[in-house]
Amino acid sequence: YGCNNFCTYCIVPYVRGRERSRRPEAVRAELEELVRQGYKDITLLGQNVNSYGRGCDFDCDFADLLRMLSQVPGDFVLRFMTSHPKDASEKLFATMAECDKVAKHLHLPFQSGSSRVLQAMHRGYTREHYLSLVDELRARIPEIVLTSDVIVGFPGETQEEFEQTMSLIETVRYDALFTFLFSPRRGTPAERMPDPMPKEQKSANFQRLLQRQNEISWEKHQRYVGGIYRCLVDGQGTDGRLTARTDGGRLVHLAGDPGCIGTWQNARITEASTWALFGDVVEG
Ligand code: SF4
Repeated sequence: YGCNNFCTYCIVPYVRGRERSRRPEAVRAELEELVRQGYKDITLLGQNVNSYGRGCDFDCDFADLLRMLSQVPGDFVLRFMTSHPKDASEKLFATMAECDKVAKHLHLPFQSGSSRVLQAMHRGYTREHYLSLVDELRARIPEIVLTSDVIVGFPGETQEEFEQTMSLIETVRYDALFTFLFSPRRGTPAERMPDPMPKEQKSANFQRLLQRQNEISWEKHQRYVGGIYRCLVDGQGTDGRLTARTDGGRLVHLAGDPGCIGTWQNARITEASTWALFGDVVEG
């Protein structure tokens, strides 16, 4: 719970307070209970999960916690968010690679492709460091699904700095991106920063980024077509098709028996759009 980072645009540290970590045995007990009740897709949540355990009287960092939880017997997948790039470590990536129950998905917000803007945001990493993390991660887990958050139009962002954000998404090629047009939060330092770029320019940049990312997401989804992926069926849409999630968290619309809901199935992917995959349950 909470956050110590004080990014200059964010209200969270003021409203949620400083970081606190639950004891590992308490998290494990809760997970065991969820697994006993039949839950199969479990997400560890925190403002900055990567700083778990820091300053605590127990010796367990986030990678240790993930490893311990993945050893709990049962049929489940473990997810987590949100990871802060300044605290994401090789140890975390190695743990993700080695633990079968940890989903091969990382949400790693970059926020801007410009090191100057990142400094103004008080993010604690540079563009180069972020890109080196992505390289390390992909070297360990080539199939990783990578998603992120980005802010367009942070106060003082120049057109050239926005172009650095565009170039970063071309380099990384995220599976999906949560894009935000900057809007000031009351009481944060960013609210008082000079902001000369006209709103129209920010909106045009935002649309450009969105459009390009949609193309990349579509292209990345096409690679699933023809493949068979294990996914957890979690419901049924209004069109009667089942909804499911791959290990990497991709949404799949499936033709299949509603009796499959709550079970793992193999799905043959026949079609893909920007936002979702489509396919059939492979019997047996
Ligand atoms: Fe903390 Fe995230 Fe807010 Fe930064 S953006 S202050 S890391 S909660």
